[in-house]
Amino acid sequence: MISLHPAIDNGFPAAKPGFAGGTLKCHCATNPVTVEVGAQTAHNHACGCTKCWKPAGATFSQIAVVDRNKVKVTSGAEKLYVVDPSAAIQRHACKDCGVHMFGRIENQEHPFYGLDFVHTELSDDDGWSPPEFAAFVSSVIESGVKPEQMPEIRARLKGLGLEPYDALSPPLMDAIATHVAKKSGALAA
Ligand SMILES: [Zn+2]
Ligand SMILES: [Zn+2]
Repeated sequence: MISLHPAIDNGFPAAKPGFAGGTLKCHCATNPVTVEVGAQTAHNHACGCTKCWKPAGATFSQIAVVDRNKVKVTSGAEKLYVVDPSAAIQRHACKDCGVHMFGRIENQEHPFYGLDFVHTELSDDDGWSPPEFAAFVSSVIESGVKPEQMPEIRARLKGLGLEPYDALSPPLMDAIATHVAKKSGALAA
């Protein structure tokens, strides 16, 4: 059976009340990059796009957002590089193991400016917000998943309580459209 993601395939625990963050660590056995996240994450989800980092064998990534002011590189900063400097989300990855430690938006006009993207599976701490939905599900075909596998994949996501969307979730799509409408004047700022 196809692996959606190792932290998702067999279900996942609920968030721990009062959980206030933890430490992310890359996959290097020695001198790993560590990133301290000083808050609970939000909008955690499975993502099928081809840009997010996925562990070996996974079809989806698992990714959440958190206030960029709560994200701090605490060791190994010299090993980080930006995977694609032209992308809206600048993914800071470890050059030795390839793991993405955080994604940051530098364009202050971007609807999600102020939020960093993180993979909480890189943490040994328990209590992170669990995935809530699946985004960009159809995009897994771009990674080589056969189109005829999609009904099974969507059914499994639904069975896990992760509504499959082919863009982001409705609250996030609404947030983007609201940002655009406020800029254009269609909605009062
Ligand atoms: Zn590494
Ligand atoms: Zn993605």
